Amino acid sequence: MSNVSFSQKEADRLMKIPGTQKGAVLRSHLAAIKNHAGEEGLAKIEKALVELGYPVTLQEVRATKEYPEAQTALISLLCQKLLGYTDADIFVQAVEASKLSFFSQLLMRTFTSLERVLKNAPHYWKKHVSIGDLECSEFNKKEKFAIIRLRNYKLHPVVCLSLAGYFVGMFRYVQPSANIKETKCIHKGDQYHEFKVTW
Ligand SMILES: [Zn+2]
Repeated sequence: MSNVSFSQKEADRLMKIPGTQKGAVLRSHLAAIKNHAGEEGLAKIEKALVELGYPVTLQEVRATKEYPEAQTALISLLCQKLLGYTDADIFVQAVEASKLSFFSQLLMRTFTSLERVLKNAPHYWKKHVSIGDLECSEFNKKEKFAIIRLRNYKLHPVVCLSLAGYFVGMFRYVQPSANIKETKCIHKGDQYHEFKVTW
């Protein structure tokens, strides 16, 4: 019957981790699945979420309502298991989600330079996600790189890929040549996640 039952334990573990996100962010991730894997792909994920006991659908998610932050991790894991996503697919889909997100569109409309976006990103993170502390620890205009760190945020390594995609999607609004690489990771024994943005 269910072909995702093997991940029930993992789903339960993840969904017990405290922390919430605004529906607007979750919505952009679901909308990106539709763009990336089609209606059929999205339907598979939504069905699996029902089977696992953590239902959420693109149609019903409300922008201002709070949802578990771990739901995004669960969705990414289901994309890997049911739709055969590679790491690159997870990343690209998150870039797409960022483009579809009202919140990043708003951020970009307000701040038109990469420096301003990076400076204000921690504030926007706080407004949309209840766990984790984001900071821009370095902005080097001359050498064209920035360092962002995310502390107190530990869900699942798959999230690092989607965070990187989401961040770089935002930065590309104002700096189309922006790229990103995770240089430290809490899942690899470091104190925090660290991303290096280059352009
Ligand atoms: Zn990480």
